[in-house]
Amino acid sequence: MILAAGGRAMPVTGSNGDGFRLAQKLGHTIKDVFPALVPLKLEGDFFKRIAGVKFVGTAEILDENKPAASDHGDILFTNYGISGPPILQISRKAGELLRKGRDAVLRVIMIDSMSKESLDGLLAKRFHHATGKTVGFSLVGLINKRLIPVLLKEAGISDMKAPAEKLSTEEERERILDILTDWRFRITGTTSWPNAQVTAGGIDTREVDRNTLESRVIRGIYFAGEILDIDGACGGYNLQWAWSSGFVAGHNAALQML
Ligand SMILES: Cc1cc2nc3c(=O)[nH]c(=O)nc-3n(C[C@H](O)[C@H](O)[C@H](O)COP(=O)(O)OP(=O)(O)OC[C@H]3O[C@@H](n4cnc5c(N)ncnc54)[C@H](O)[C@@H]3O)c2cc1C
Repeated sequence: MILAAGGRAMPVTGSNGDGFRLAQKLGHTIKDVFPALVPLKLEGDFFKRIAGVKFVGTAEILDENKPAASDHGDILFTNYGISGPPILQISRKAGELLRKGRDAVLRVIMIDSMSKESLDGLLAKRFHHATGKTVGFSLVGLINKRLIPVLLKEAGISDMKAPAEKLSTEEERERILDILTDWRFRITGTTSWPNAQVTAGGIDTREVDRNTLESRVIRGIYFAGEILDIDGACGGYNLQWAWSSGFVAGHNAALQML
């Protein structure tokens, strides 16, 4: 018998965790199961205003201030937090930290295409050339318009209609620069199974023969795919594992019948 009932990600596809319950009944240990490749919920009261804003940047999970996972690409603000391929890619680390009761911080680098020094120079030029215009206007074209009021408020500049000269002090520019290159958010959670692409955790691999994928608990039972405590990053690794393990389990189950 081959048990390949998947994990719990996107239960509408039919994998609702039944496989884990069946394996447990057979005497297997299920290692902590949680959603991975999933959007993140962030602390903040402004997400509804910037939901739908997309940019190309870098996202990092910080564990005690040190980068623990990082990826670059299309990032999307949502009304609960943040999504997009780089976020899904690093979300497993956030889930891991949160389950251990640790603080998980997301660092977003909205403009990662130039050095911090070059960006500082560019901002100084923009503020200088926008003399007579508003501070909000001075950032148009650099970031999505809907982000401007939120960014300025986060930088402690509440009046975006104030003249751009107001941004002339180095301290104010530094605060804007910080948000553009090092915007930090407390991660309050991941979104749940309906939004997850893969399941972290599953049948403890120590209870399965690594060559044949046969159970070490009950002979004649084989496992394949996401039901095992194996998950990978975006990029086809999970599908590859499902197909390859399906081949190995099928081949060895058939051999046993000869
Ligand atoms: C939206 C989405 C996008 C993804 N994109 C990618 C990607 O780009 N690249 C990548 O590598 N991976 C991707 N994945 C992950 C990948 O699809 C899975 O890791 C892979 O399909 C797992 O294969 P599986 O056979 O183990 O489980 P599943 O594909 O989940 O299949 C399990 C099957 O078992 C059936 N089943 C469950 N319980 C029972 C029961 N009690 N009785 C009978 N049948 C049952 C289910 O109906 C289902 O058909 C994505 C997943 C999702 C949800």
